Formats: sequence, C-alpha cells, structure tokens
Amino acid sequence: MIPQAIFLDRDGTINFDYGYLGDASKVEILDGVIDGMLKLKEKFPGIIFIVISNQAGIARGLITMEQVRNVNSRIERLLSEKGITVSKFYHCPFHPEFSSEEDSKCRKPSPEMLFEAAGDFNLNLEKTYFIGDRHTDIESGLNAGTKTILLKSEIYPDEAEILNKKNAAPDYIANNFLEAADFIIGEANGGN
Ligand SMILES: [Mg+2]
Repeated sequence: MIPQAIFLDRDGTINFDYGYLGDASKVEILDGVIDGMLKLKEKFPGIIFIVISNQAGIARGLITMEQVRNVNSRIERLLSEKGITVSKFYHCPFHPEFSSEEDSKCRKPSPEMLFEAAGDFNLNLEKTYFIGDRHTDIESGLNAGTKTILLKSEIYPDEAEILNKKNAAPDYIANNFLEAADFIIGEANGGN
C-alpha cells in the first residue's frame, strides 16, 4: 500500500514531551524523526504529514492557544529547515472536565480530527498511518480506520498493555520513529 498521509501525534512523537509544552524555545525534535520523515518522503514523493494533537492544557488554563501555535510554528520551522513540510496541525484544546461534552468531541481517542483532515485533504483513511506514543493515538486511528503504529515511550511504558486490555492493538510497535518509517516502507514493499 502506498500511503497518502502520515498522521503524527505531536508531544512524545515528534518532540520531547515535557507535559503541557508552552515554551517554543524548549522544542526538541526526537531522535529518528527527521531521518524517518525524510526516508518516507523519498520513498513516497506525494506523501503528506499531518499533526493531530490533544492540547487540553488550554482548557486547563495551563497554556494558551498562542503558546500552542508558537510551539507548532517552531516545530514547523525545525522540520522545514530539513526539507520536511507539515501540511497542517490539528489540535483539540478541550477537556470534558473543563469544556462542554460537545466541544470535547474532538479529543483523541475520538477520530474526529482525523475525519476533518481526511475531508480537508481528500484522503482515503485506509491509506494512512497514525503514529503516536499513547493508547489514545492508536484508538483514534483505529476508530478512524487508519493503520496504526505505537512508539515505545519511557514516559508512558504501559500503552501496549492498556490497549491489550481493551482488545485493541496497533499494527506495529516501534522503538523509535525511524523504525516506524521502516515498517511503513516494508509494508509498501510487500514485506512484513
Ligand atoms: Mg503524545
């Protein structure tokens, strides 16, 4: 399968997860992300990258929308310096404890942001992957019908087990982003 798009969680997938990151100067791109994205771009020239992020720190009053946008801009710039384009950042700023149920519907594990992106970019979600470090990323992808890759995380080591208890599983569990990219390329080559 030639993927049309790769959906990426943001914190803990692209950049180090400090928790409610509001300071753009602290953005630190994780090992393997640049190399993995470049590899995917080289293998699949038409592929697009889309960021799908929960940012409930906004609803919690811990960070502002402007800070989230500044962090996004910095990520965008650090990647574009390496020749990688992020087509769009989607983020859900709400949380059911602080926002209405209706507003909070965008929050992963809901597939809503993925559906929105699929509409915006005319994507067949079966031809996309969602890469993330949390069980909610994988559930969101499964709910939308994407392929899913869980990145192992030192901060959240129990995600595969949490999914297992829900009888859910990602298509692949990768040690890092580069391994995730290699899995996607392997699938396109008919391997795995
Ligand atoms: Mg994350």
